[in-house]
Amino acid sequence: MGLLFSSLDFYSHVIYLSLSTRGSAKLPIYLVFLCKVNFIPFKNQYIRLGDAFYVKTRPASVANPSLIRFNEALAVELGIPVLDNEDVAGIFSGKVIPEGSEPVAMAYAGHQFGGFNPQLGDGRAILLGEVASPAGGHFDIHLKGSGPTAFSRNGDGLAALGPVLREYLVSEAMHKLGVPTTRALAAVTTGEEVVRERLLPGGVITRVARSFVRVGTFEYFAARGNTGEIRQLADFIIERAYPEAREAANPYVALLQGVVERQAELIAQWMNLGFIHGVMNTDNMAISGETIDYGPCAFMDGFDYNKVYSSIDRNGRYAYGNQASIGLWNLTRFAETLLPLFDENGDTAIEVAKQVLGVYVDHYQQVRQSGLLAKLGLLPGDAQTDAGDKKLIEALFDTMQASSADFTLTFYHLSRLSVQASENDEAIRRLFNHMPQFDDWLVQWREHLRRDAQDDTLRQAAMQAVNPVYIPRNHQVEAAIRAAEDRADFSVFHTLHEVLQQPYRYQPGRDRYMQPPEPHEVVEKTFCGT
Ligand code: AMP
Ligand code: MG
Repeated sequence: MGLLFSSLDFYSHVIYLSLSTRGSAKLPIYLVFLCKVNFIPFKNQYIRLGDAFYVKTRPASVANPSLIRFNEALAVELGIPVLDNEDVAGIFSGKVIPEGSEPVAMAYAGHQFGGFNPQLGDGRAILLGEVASPAGGHFDIHLKGSGPTAFSRNGDGLAALGPVLREYLVSEAMHKLGVPTTRALAAVTTGEEVVRERLLPGGVITRVARSFVRVGTFEYFAARGNTGEIRQLADFIIERAYPEAREAANPYVALLQGVVERQAELIAQWMNLGFIHGVMNTDNMAISGETIDYGPCAFMDGFDYNKVYSSIDRNGRYAYGNQASIGLWNLTRFAETLLPLFDENGDTAIEVAKQVLGVYVDHYQQVRQSGLLAKLGLLPGDAQTDAGDKKLIEALFDTMQASSADFTLTFYHLSRLSVQASENDEAIRRLFNHMPQFDDWLVQWREHLRRDAQDDTLRQAAMQAVNPVYIPRNHQVEAAIRAAEDRADFSVFHTLHEVLQQPYRYQPGRDRYMQPPEPHEVVEKTFCGT
């Protein structure tokens, strides 16, 4: 077996469940007094769960907030009226609390790099409130970088401008690439400095999600033995994100099944775009199936199955090629918290959980494989042709690994080749350093294309619809951050954002956004920005 599915085989037999008795803990509650501005039609629900789930927290009032970008299209989708820049900067820096907002810091726990921490929580984030979108669905509006909370531990509760810009660019690019993700509603500068390895300008990003409830939120209550709260939380998230589970014989089993399927699909999508989340701790995995918590994330340039960018991931736990198996590990932690809701008998509950978790590997491989077939312009076939396609795909990844060919450009060039060899082959041959192994592969790929006998133009168009031209390349994101941090110049950020709005369409004059970094531009490490 080649690089493609190997690590899953390693992990599929380690689904391990434990029932444990845990103590309970109570959190302090802070009363807050709010100044009212009448703007956002909040319909808060999370706060109704009760004060075990959060700590009421007023965002810090910053000195001089200034708007970098407001996502008007998203605001319209959410039913938020058009606001002037000053109001936006005030509200989305936390300086002004709009009418109807009941700001809270959410409680959660989490496994960080495999070790359990029973209390993490929103240490630098605040749930401003929730809105019912006119288009349907309920959404959380969450500030990040808005000051200390009861969960800040030794942190300052703040965000530097760089991570704010990174999250805005990458999360909005993910959305346009078609990957479920939190969205960016606003980015502001605070006018204050943040102490990191040096003084940096401060910022606040406002994120939107179907829900910020995480695997770690369930773990928080499981660690305290609070089955009642786990049931409440499960009912809440079913209502919010898995309404179909209500009808099932056991809605909580259906919830686990839904979460398992969405997570498998999500990670398959990441993999097929060369995306590395970087810090897949259980507190950074949303139950809703959206990508959350963009920290040391990156899209790879040259293909490397073991690629790690995160400066804190020294053992490569969250390397590109480990993401699918880590997804299952995290889901197993989630399943453990639901066991009391599955069956009174512990052994029966574990059997149920194992069965549902058992769906993950197949589902992941199916989505990944069909996605890769689409990327290569191949039609799904019978079992025999599928096995041949799988070999072809693995041979391509082996060749990419051997030559460090650029992930995105490989598929970009392939989607512009015709079924006949021609001088157009030269660009991709150059990408593979004219390796004979790749020339052989091209011959085989074309044999598979001929077998499918598709119209060449239609096949190319279909491939171009799933193979992006532009991704938020690390060095471009870094250039946007450098210009903003060092020179207060946001034009680089805005232009990059604009390019990433249409990732699948070639934009004349913008070829440099397609290119991998020059040697002096390479970004080897990314940081959490905490
Ligand atoms: P993350 O790395 O974003 O997943 O954060 C892990 C935990 O650390 C969460 O509980 C965060 O709220 C908390 N945290 C991270 N950075 C800060 C900060 N600057 N101040 C307070 N808490 C923080
Ligand atoms: Mg986090």
